[in-house]
Amino acid sequence: MRVVICGGGVIGACTAYFLRRHGVDVIVVERTEVAAAASGKAGGFLARDWCAGTPLDALARRSFTLHAQLPEEIAGDWGYRPMNAYAGFVTPDGDARAGTPSALSWLADGVIISQRIGTTDTTAIVHPHKFTSAVLNAALARGAELRVGRVTGIVRGADGTTAKGVEVDGGMIEADAVVIAMGPWSLLAAQWMSLPAVYGQRSPSIVYDIGPNVPADALFLECESDGTAVSIEVFPRADGSAHLTALSDIAPLPLDPAAVTPDHKAIARLQTMCERLSPLFRPEKIIAQQACFRPVTEDGLPLIGRIPHSDGLYVATGHNVWGILNAPATGEAMAQLIADGVTSDVNLAPFNPARLKPLDPSLLQAR
Ligand SMILES: Cc1cc2nc3c(=O)[nH]c(=O)nc-3n(C[C@H](O)[C@H](O)[C@H](O)COP(=O)(O)OP(=O)(O)OC[C@H]3O[C@@H](n4cnc5c(N)ncnc54)[C@H](O)[C@@H]3O)c2cc1C
Repeated sequence: MRVVICGGGVIGACTAYFLRRHGVDVIVVERTEVAAAASGKAGGFLARDWCAGTPLDALARRSFTLHAQLPEEIAGDWGYRPMNAYAGFVTPDGDARAGTPSALSWLADGVIISQRIGTTDTTAIVHPHKFTSAVLNAALARGAELRVGRVTGIVRGADGTTAKGVEVDGGMIEADAVVIAMGPWSLLAAQWMSLPAVYGQRSPSIVYDIGPNVPADALFLECESDGTAVSIEVFPRADGSAHLTALSDIAPLPLDPAAVTPDHKAIARLQTMCERLSPLFRPEKIIAQQACFRPVTEDGLPLIGRIPHSDGLYVATGHNVWGILNAPATGEAMAQLIADGVTSDVNLAPFNPARLKPLDPSLLQAR
């Protein structure tokens, strides 16, 4: 059996790895480069039970366990490390508490920590670009193939429902099964199959070099910026980089993933906020100013499973803010579904693409 996976983000990489563990032949087709989009630019924060009480709970818990196991199984260092997580706020200028030393010594005065919301048992982090690359490399080492090319359609058999392969740059790659894992660009696949809408939600981020001595403290802070309350997330990583993000906005998704750029005003605003958090966030320490699009669906849950009214067509996307966390269990479940016909670790019923109305393909024709 040969499976073609469309998209070399974290979901495609994990699906490829677990399919190879099942001995299934895999070709990953990636338009630009592995982890070129959100999977290379995310924070990489992982939480065991922050999805408790939602349909994502089992997927998140299984993924959290797999994240802890994968460093034993796969070559490479992607900075997996358990961490603490704290909530707090930044005092406005002029606030009487502005000179108050922070409870965490690496933070500036006036950054007030109000509670611990994660411990090294329940929260962790990976470097998402290194993680995605390491998992894909592990799949390649087990015999998977990576091809750089743009998927432009699906090829079906004479019955009109059975997948026979994918169109790539004017050619065809034959397959017994096809997985759409193109993140927000999965939207385009609604032209080729009965697929609910997938949207892109843009977020800017800045990566600083803060050195390896900063403790593993993730921060979720409320901060005033230009007269509005803004939530900012701070993730120091094992390689000495720190990822800071805030200010999500709605922006048109460029057709080419390589054309995603940040909004300069949003980056400037984010940088001003970062500089209030710690003397470590200095302009000369900036490694990257970037943006990426999270894949989101109408009900906020991912689409993971078989495409209705078809044979051999699957989708795995729409993971929103938890794609790095939930990739391993998604890949594991997709591999079980494709190879065995059923999943054994996580029930995919809440994520069945059939639960949502398919997008009307005529809405995409102008694109
Ligand atoms: C700022 C930010 C911070 C985040 N932080 C976290 C976090 O801390 N923890 C967490 O769990 N999640 C986080 N996320 C969410 C996470 O990044 C995403 O959910 C996840 O990366 C989505 O992965 P994906 O593989 O579905 O999509 P993507 O990473 O978008 O990958 C899709 C791939 O498909 C390729 N592609 C597109 N079109 C085609 C085509 N026609 N043919 C072939 N290939 C194609 C693209 O080039 C791309 O490489 C964050 C997201 C953002 C934006």
